[in-house]
Amino acid sequence: MIKGSCACGRVQYQTQSQPRTVTACHCGTCQKAGGPFLAFAGFPTSELQWIHQPDLWARSDFADRGYCKVCGSSVSMRYYVEDITYVTLGTIEPGTALPRIGAHIFLKEKAPWVVLPDDGAERWDGFGPGFEKELAQWRRQRLRPKL
Ligand SMILES: [Zn+2]
Ligand SMILES: [Zn+2]
Repeated sequence: MIKGSCACGRVQYQTQSQPRTVTACHCGTCQKAGGPFLAFAGFPTSELQWIHQPDLWARSDFADRGYCKVCGSSVSMRYYVEDITYVTLGTIEPGTALPRIGAHIFLKEKAPWVVLPDDGAERWDGFGPGFEKELAQWRRQRLRPKL
């Protein structure tokens, strides 16, 4: 069982699954959360139980970000494109065994003062190519006129 919460404990989640992906996102919006980047663990949305849902900010037409309006913690990220919800690694209970970061994404926006570790993880300027394809397909489907 993996459990997590925001800093004040109001937003809480749990899951019986293991993360499908662990990714560090270096985009400018993640930096605005207050750190050099945000690290996320992705779980199938149906396997992540919210004990108390986060507040949501629709950052773009294809994603929203979950946060706690009381303490300000960045808690989650959900793309409408896929059935995965990402939670920030920092909100997962300390001591939880987790895989290492498998990919660094949005390196084109990386803070110049961050030095990436020699961790063998994938490195991408934006999203990884698999997600770019899914996103493009999702956009095409949305733009198709309804008959
Ligand atoms: Zn909170
Ligand atoms: Zn980001």
